[in-house]
Parts: sequence; structure tokens; C-alpha cells
Amino acid sequence: MLPMNSLNAPHFHDDAAARKYLEGVRWPNGPVCPHCKSTGEHYELTGKSTRPGVRKCSDCRKPFSVTVGTVFERSKIPLSKWLAAAFLLCSSKKGISAHQLHRTLGVTYKTAWFLAHRIRFAMTDTGGGLMGSGGGAVEADETYIGRKKGST
Ligand SMILES: [Zn+2]
Repeated sequence: MLPMNSLNAPHFHDDAAARKYLEGVRWPNGPVCPHCKSTGEHYELTGKSTRPGVRKCSDCRKPFSVTVGTVFERSKIPLSKWLAAAFLLCSSKKGISAHQLHRTLGVTYKTAWFLAHRIRFAMTDTGGGLMGSGGGAVEADETYIGRKKGST
């Protein structure tokens, strides 16, 4: 896996790479159904009307993707922008303003403000973490996005 320490990394620019990156972090041992926790032989849906990365659970038959249960779920903002915003917010010791995010990521100020707000909240102890309450944390080098788990 590529290190998450440079804004040039593909997963900060390409949404397919962003999804693969997130899948690798969240599912190190293969996809897990968020509905029934099955780790069975889920298959990827490939229809033209299907969003990339959507799988169908081999047990409960419900569709899911890696963003279910995370702050990225149902967002219209591209996943690569989310990851880049989280990276910038985490890697800047002094913090970064929505205006800086807006200029660096090339998103609207409104989107930048939303990203900063949601990511900052997700990084607090009560925010549930970027990965949802059951999803653990995204570890990016020494930076944790989300909540540190006690023993795991
Ligand atoms: Zn399932």
C-alpha cells in the first residue's frame, strides 16, 4: 500500500484508487458485510447503473460498499476529496482553514467547510470516528483518523 504521506498519492486524486485504499484499510482480510458481518464470497456488482465498489452479500443478499457506516456514506463529494481533506486536516499541526482546503482541493468553499466540519467532528472522541462506531480507525502513518481502539 502506498504511504499516505503525500498529497500526490493516487488515492487523493482518483476515486477508484481512493476506494481501493479505503477497502485495504477497512477490510485487510477481505470485504465484510456491514449488515450481517459475513465475510463470505461477496461478489462485486458490475451493472452499468451500479456505482463502482458495490458488492452483494453472499449471505443476506444486501448490497454494500466500503463507505457504508462511515462519514463518506451517501456523500456526493468524491471519495478522493474526502481522503485528501482528512489528510490535510490531520497532517497540519496548526490546523487548516476551510479556505485553505477550498484552494488546495479545488472544491467550493461550501464543500470545504462541510468537509472540515464533518472530519473534525469524526476525529473527536464522541464523533464515532470516520469509520463508524464499529469500523475502527484509519491509520495513516502516525495519524489516526477516527477513534483509537483500546486493544485492537
Ligand atoms: Zn450480509
